[in-house]
Amino acid sequence: MSKKLQSFIEIAAESHFPLENLPFGVFKPRQGPARIGVAIGDSILDLSVLEEEGIFQLPEFQDRKVFADDALNSFLSLGRPAWRKTRAILQRLLSIETAELRDNAALRDLALYAQREVTMQLPARIGDYTDFYSSYHHAHNVGTMLRGPENALMPNWKWLPVGYHGRSSSIVVSGTDVRRPHGQIKAPEAAEPAFGSTRSFDFELEMAFFIGPGNSLGDPVPIARAEEHIFGMVLMNDWSARDVQAWEYQPLGPFLAKNFCTSISPWVVTLDALEPFRKPLPAQDPAPLQYLRGSHESTYDIQLEARLQTASLEAPHVITRSNFQHLYWSIAQQLAHHTVGGCNLRPGDLLASGTISGPTEDSRGCMLELSWRGANPLQLPNGEMRKWLEDGDTLAISGWAQGDGYRIGFGEVTGKVLAAAE
Ligand code: MN
Repeated sequence: MSKKLQSFIEIAAESHFPLENLPFGVFKPRQGPARIGVAIGDSILDLSVLEEEGIFQLPEFQDRKVFADDALNSFLSLGRPAWRKTRAILQRLLSIETAELRDNAALRDLALYAQREVTMQLPARIGDYTDFYSSYHHAHNVGTMLRGPENALMPNWKWLPVGYHGRSSSIVVSGTDVRRPHGQIKAPEAAEPAFGSTRSFDFELEMAFFIGPGNSLGDPVPIARAEEHIFGMVLMNDWSARDVQAWEYQPLGPFLAKNFCTSISPWVVTLDALEPFRKPLPAQDPAPLQYLRGSHESTYDIQLEARLQTASLEAPHVITRSNFQHLYWSIAQQLAHHTVGGCNLRPGDLLASGTISGPTEDSRGCMLELSWRGANPLQLPNGEMRKWLEDGDTLAISGWAQGDGYRIGFGEVTGKVLAAAE
C-alpha cells in the first residue's frame, strides 16, 4: 500500500475518510439546499462552492453545474475519466503541500463543514435497484436449511449471478428508522395464512455499487468494459421479513418481505480509492460461460462487521465479521450478466451483492444464518437472547479496507427497528 498522504486538515489514524479515500455524498447544511461534497476526516468539502470558484475546469463538465445538486446522477453520467480528474484535483487541493485552500481562510470558511452539523441524504436518485445472491456461503447455508446440504445450491447458482429486481422507492439513507412490517404469514402447521406483523425481522449485511454512464437498451456491456460503468460502492442493509418471505417467495422470488425498506450508507467510495485493495476473485468451478469471463477477474478486500445495540446493552455488540472478498461473483460479472440480454442501466442505478457471509459461523451475514432460523439464538454479553431483531434494536453495518497506516472506510449504515404500526 502506498505511503500515507497528508492533508492540512487533521485526520485521526482510525478515520474512515483520509485523503486517500475522498468518498462522494449529498449533504444538507443547516442553511441552504442540499449539495454534493466529499468526506475528509470529520469534515465535508462542499464541491458546489469549489465549482462556483472555478476549481473544476474540465471539458467533461461542459459549463454545467454538476455539484450544486441534491443527487450525484449528473456527475455519475460523466464517466471514469471525469471522476478521476475530479479526484486528482481534490487530492491536490486538500494536500498539505497546496496553499490554494490551506491558506485561504475565507474559502475554507465557505467550503468546509463539520460532518456532525449537516444531514446526509441519499447520494443519488436511484432509478432501478437490483439485489444479487452472490455469496456462496450465504446461498449454501440458506439452501441447507431449506433442502439439506446435498441440494443446498440450485443447479443454476454456479453458472450465473442469481438476482431479483428490487424496489428503489423504499431505499433510505443510514439513520432512518425502520418500522416492523405487516404481511401474510403462514405458520408451517397452519392450514391458512394470517395477517400480522413479522415475527422474524432480519437484516442482511450487503454492499452495493452505483452505476455511472450506463448503456442503451439493446446494447449489452461486455465484461471487459464493466468497470467503466461502476462509480463506487456503499454499505447496504437489506431489511427482511423471513416469515413473510417463506410464504410469498415461490415461484417469483421475494416481494413484500423486502420492499418495505432498504438502507444504504451515505458516502460512495470510488473504485479508484479501492484500487490498492484489489484481490483475485475466489476460484470459479465450473468455469463461467465466455460472456462472464474477464481477463483478470478480481474483487476487493473490504472488512465488514455488523453491530447490534439493544435497549439494554451497554455498548453495541459485534455479532458478525465478514469480508467482501467472500463473494463468488465479481461486480463486473454481475453487471455484464445484468445487461447481456439488452437491459439498460442508467446513472444512479444501484446493484447490490446479496448477503455477504463467510465460511465460518461467526462470519454469517444475517440473523437467519446466525441463529440458524431461530434454532440457535445468539447470546449477547448481558445475557439477552436474539433469534431475530426486536423492537428498539439498532443494527449498524460498518466496513473498511485496511491500508498501511490508513483506512479506506465506508462509515456505516444504521437503522433502528420501530414497533409495528397499530
Ligand atoms: Mn438481500
